[in-house]
Amino acid sequence: MHILYHLVIAVYLLALIITAWSLYREREPRGMRRTLTVTFFLLLAWAGASLYSPSLLALLALLLFLPPALVGGQWLLARRPLQRSRPLIEERAHGSCVRLDERDAMFSRAALVPGTPQYESYYSLRPEKKDIDAELRALPGLYAPGSRCYEPLNAEIPVAIFSLLEELRPLASPGVEGPRVRVPPAEMSRRLKGMARYLGAVSAGVAPLYREYLYSHIGRRMAEYGEPVRTDHRFALVYAVEMDYSMVKGAPRVQIGAESSKQYLEAAKIGLSLAHYLRVLGWDARAHIDGNYLVVAPPLAAEAGLGEVSRMGILVTEDYGPRVRLGVVTTDMPLEPDGPVDLGIEDFCRVCMKCADNCPSGAIPRDEMRLDRGILKWTIDQERCYRFWRENGTDCAICMSSCPYSKPNTPVHRPVRLLVRRSSLARRLALAADDWLYGRRPFRDLKPDWMKAGGPEK
Ligand code: SF4
Ligand code: SF4
Repeated sequence: MHILYHLVIAVYLLALIITAWSLYREREPRGMRRTLTVTFFLLLAWAGASLYSPSLLALLALLLFLPPALVGGQWLLARRPLQRSRPLIEERAHGSCVRLDERDAMFSRAALVPGTPQYESYYSLRPEKKDIDAELRALPGLYAPGSRCYEPLNAEIPVAIFSLLEELRPLASPGVEGPRVRVPPAEMSRRLKGMARYLGAVSAGVAPLYREYLYSHIGRRMAEYGEPVRTDHRFALVYAVEMDYSMVKGAPRVQIGAESSKQYLEAAKIGLSLAHYLRVLGWDARAHIDGNYLVVAPPLAAEAGLGEVSRMGILVTEDYGPRVRLGVVTTDMPLEPDGPVDLGIEDFCRVCMKCADNCPSGAIPRDEMRLDRGILKWTIDQERCYRFWRENGTDCAICMSSCPYSKPNTPVHRPVRLLVRRSSLARRLALAADDWLYGRRPFRDLKPDWMKAGGPEK
C-alpha cells in the first residue's frame, strides 16, 4: 500500500516540475516561482511523512489523489458528444432573426466624412448616433500621434499592412474561371479544409451559409455603401490563423496592432488562394478579407465547429482561445457542413469573467446571455470598446490576452483543455489555477527586440 502512496506523490511532483518548466518556457516567472515553491513544500511533506508518520503519508496521498479522481470521474460520466445538441440560432425556425447591418459597425461609422452622401444617409437612419460618433471621431486616430500608445516607426507597421490589405480587396470578388468540375461534397470539404491548413490555418470547418450570418447592408466600402448584401452562395469555409502568444501578451501596446494586421494578411492570403482555386474548378467563390466581409465571421465560425462565441463576443477556439483571426470563403459549390460543437466554453465563460474584469472600458457584460436580434448571446458595448481603442491608439485586445484559453497549445495545456471540455469541476479548478499562476491581469510586455527603440544594429 505504501508504494501506492509514494507513487501518487511522485506523479504529482513530476507534474509540478513539468509545469514549472513549461512556465519557464512561456516566460512566466510568477507562475514558475509559485510552482517551484509548492514543489519544495510537497517534497518536504513527503520526506517528513515517510520518515515519521505512515498515516500522514496516507492522508497526503489521499488529498492529492482526490481532485484528479473527482475530475476524472466526472469526465468519464459526462461523455456527451462533442457535437452541440442545441442549434446556434434558436430563432431560425421562427424567422425572427434580424441581420446585422455593417453600417452600424464602429469602423464603418468612424470612417464617415461629414458632408458626404454616406454620412447624410447614415445619420438620417440613426440620428441618435450622430453626436456620439462626432465625439469619437475627434479623438486621436488609430496608430496616430497623440494617442497613449503611439510609437513612431512601430505604429506605421499596421498602417502599412492594412493599406496593402486594402489593395488586395478587388481580388476577393467572385467570378468563375474554368469549366465546372463536380466533386462529392464530403471529399471537396476535406480537400478545402486540408488546403486551408496547408496554407497556414490552424483549424478549418464548413458551415451552411444561413442568411442570418450575412450582413444586411454594406458599410465599410464607400463605393457600395448602403447596398443590400445578396449572394447565391450556400456554403462557407471558415478558418482560423493563430496570433503570436508573445505579441498578444503585450496588449494594449503597439505590437498587438502589428500582430493583428499581420494575421489579417495571412488570413487574406489563404482566403484569396482558396477562392481562386474554387473558381478554377468552375465554381463561384468569394474571399472575405479584412474590411471586405459580407458575413459575420464569429457565429459562422461557431456554426462550422471551430469553437464557441464567448462572453467577449468573439470566437474562442479550444486550442488557441480567442488568440486567432478568422477568414471566410463562401461558394456555390456543394460542401458538407461540420456542425457546431460544445466544448464547455460557454459554461467556462459563465464562471470566469476574466475578460470582463480586465476590460478597461467596461464594454464586456457581466450578466447572463440575452436575446440580441433573435440570437441568445453576450453582446459587448462596441462604442465603449472603440473609444478605448482611439484613446489608446492601437487595437486593445486586453480581453484576448487575459482569457485563460489563450495560453499556448503546449503539452501542459492540452490535457487541461481536454478535461475542461467535459468536466465542470475541471473548469473551476483550471480557472483557480490560472488566477494563481498567471494572475487576474496577466500582462507581460514581451515586445520583440527588433521593435524596441535603439536596439542593436545588425
Ligand atoms: S476570459 Fe473567461 S469569460 Fe472571457 S471569453 Fe475567456 S473564458 Fe470566457
Ligand atoms: S478590446 Fe479592450 S476595450 Fe474592447 S472589449 Fe476587449 S478589453 Fe474591452
